[in-house]
Amino acid sequence: MRQPLVIANWKMHGKRAFNQALVEAFLGLLEEHRAECVLCPPFAYLGQLAELLRSSDVMLGGQDCSHIAEGAYTGEVSAEMLDDCGCQWVIVGHSERRQYHQESDALVAAKLSMAQRAGLTPVLCVGETQEQRETGEAQDVVKAQLLGALGDLPDLQGLAIAYEPVWAIGTGLTASPEQAQDMHAFIRDVVTGLDATHASGLRLLYGGSVKAGNAAELFAQADIDGALVGGASLDAEAFAAIVCAA
Ligand code: PGA
Repeated sequence: MRQPLVIANWKMHGKRAFNQALVEAFLGLLEEHRAECVLCPPFAYLGQLAELLRSSDVMLGGQDCSHIAEGAYTGEVSAEMLDDCGCQWVIVGHSERRQYHQESDALVAAKLSMAQRAGLTPVLCVGETQEQRETGEAQDVVKAQLLGALGDLPDLQGLAIAYEPVWAIGTGLTASPEQAQDMHAFIRDVVTGLDATHASGLRLLYGGSVKAGNAAELFAQADIDGALVGGASLDAEAFAAIVCAA
């Protein structure tokens, strides 16, 4: 009953010529698919991708948004601007934002509500570090991130969650399908405590070194409803295979 969802996170990669070649190749390779698909390029290329995706069913998303609506905040991009540029989605609380830009759970919560107010669907990212997993704190960390970001939302409609263990991002290490499923089931339990009505319909994505070769076994897990894909989303063939596997 949950439609699969596969999201490309290009991070800080791209160039106009590269983007055009990548998107055209990807759309050409995309066969019949059940999954909804979203591309999140850097802000600078949203306009270009909106054009390239115009006649496809692939949607557009931002990699982040401001927690503020408007004003003298140099360098910030508001959720409303993303909506205005043709985005339907936005990634919020990615571990790279938490790590390099000191984003707290409170800030992530403010961004989530801004995104929803602008009519975007936010994808909340959570996940533990290697050290936290080794010391047995993984579930506590993820639970604190969930409660810290979601505690004030009226309900959990219009939202997706991505579990991205930090130790698996860009490292080539993927959580095993069992490790990922265990955490996804735990996340669904936690969100059931917040909103029992919508938790069963909430889409939970796995992220962290998802590739064409490991996507199918991850998607076969009961609580894994798709993926947030970094590195492999910059390869048209790999990303098309991942979308089609979902
Ligand atoms: P990766 O990145 O697929 O390159 O590991 C995933 C992410 O950070 O969203």
